Amino acid sequence: MARKYLIETFGCQMNVHDSERMAGLLEQAGFEATEDAAAADVVVINTCSVRERAEEKLFTRLGELRQLASAHGHDPIVAVAGCVAQQEGEAILKRAPGVTDVIVGTQAIRRLPMLVEQASARKGRRFTPLIDLDPFDDVTFPLGVTRRADAVKAYVTIIEGCNEFCSFCVVPYTRGHERMRPKADILAEVAEAAATGHREVQLLGQIVNHYAAPDDPTCDFSGLLEAVHEVPGVDRIRFASPHPRHVTPRFLQTMAALPKVCRHLHLPVQSGSTRILDAMRRRYTRESYLALVDEIRASLPDVSLSTDMIVGFPGETVGDFEETLSLTAAVGYHSMFSFKYSARPNTLAEKRLADDVTEDEKTRRIVALQSLQREIQTGLNARLVGQTVDVLIDAASRRRETELSGRTSGNVVVNLPGPGEWVGHLRAIRVERAGPHSVWGQALGGVTGHRFDSAAAGA
Ligand code: SF4
Repeated sequence: MARKYLIETFGCQMNVHDSERMAGLLEQAGFEATEDAAAADVVVINTCSVRERAEEKLFTRLGELRQLASAHGHDPIVAVAGCVAQQEGEAILKRAPGVTDVIVGTQAIRRLPMLVEQASARKGRRFTPLIDLDPFDDVTFPLGVTRRADAVKAYVTIIEGCNEFCSFCVVPYTRGHERMRPKADILAEVAEAAATGHREVQLLGQIVNHYAAPDDPTCDFSGLLEAVHEVPGVDRIRFASPHPRHVTPRFLQTMAALPKVCRHLHLPVQSGSTRILDAMRRRYTRESYLALVDEIRASLPDVSLSTDMIVGFPGETVGDFEETLSLTAAVGYHSMFSFKYSARPNTLAEKRLADDVTEDEKTRRIVALQSLQREIQTGLNARLVGQTVDVLIDAASRRRETELSGRTSGNVVVNLPGPGEWVGHLRAIRVERAGPHSVWGQALGGVTGHRFDSAAAGA
């Protein structure tokens, strides 16, 4: 009987995609997926250290796995991967002794199967966990190995790491310096994803619009979008995340000219106060960001914008926070990820700036921001009522058998009644009701969009 693996993933799309890659590698090594830790021979915890609570989840989970071993005698190989593994390394063993067999860094995941085999061979004897945190500059990944978790959307990495060193951010420390993936590799993976029925491609990188192809000096991110647009079988292209500093007129013209590129930009701002943006080392101001939003809307009138926001950054006064609220209102984001600041290990902010906004005040600010944002997105979603929108149906509802969900080009979640065979198809949906987080509608007669391939979509 094949040995079983379980991968538990915390954090961002990059981590989700790394888990897809690790799943493929383990399957190549003969393992089969399970969703039950009690049946798993290997449990991989793919961690995130961007937020404090994400880190805490790792230690809670390790405690649960230790209990599983002592209460039921089930003692799988436990591997910790991802950003906490990269950052904390051996410290994980001190904080949660006796549970972890393998620690594998963000850039060493290709060696996971080998580490798991070595750990299995040594399990039960007096055994020092295996730690592999080597930096690894090769950003290629073997084609066809990734085990994609989603049948409709495919993540494709274009850049690894980041050189920006924003003062609050751990990414340059956990994922290393910026490395571009060759254009040929990216296009081969996009073609493979499309050939296996994935209608939407999501290009991933810390700063996607900084892309410069190492194998084609003429190809920047706009050139890459044009090339991906040509790949047969791709209906939609998304990407995350562009940095406001690298949005150029050429990039906006390219977006406007390519119909498969979704009309959605996730444009992280982090604060509405120039003083705080400076302390964050974001290298743009409130004014230049707002001017950029105007420029984007002039080029792409139908684009929806989303963002990331941090409240309670060191030194943030009530006045600075008011500027965050006023910028939020001025831009009118369709959605927002907002967080209370917490110092992340090794970052410039942790080393140099006192975390001086009280927890209560951070809570007050995040509640105020989230309530404003909720109001804004409720209003924006309400504007869709009565309109017909193109929706790529990407999932059947877990709650109701006859309900499906998908997204508009602008990334609004649409729920609708319909049969499971519609998953993977673009449909015209008339919106009938709207809430703060999604809208609800009914399908009109035909299938819409650039292409319709029922065989590839599994219908
Ligand atoms: S741009 Fe800044 S926030 Fe984004 S990954 Fe790089 S360092 Fe982190």
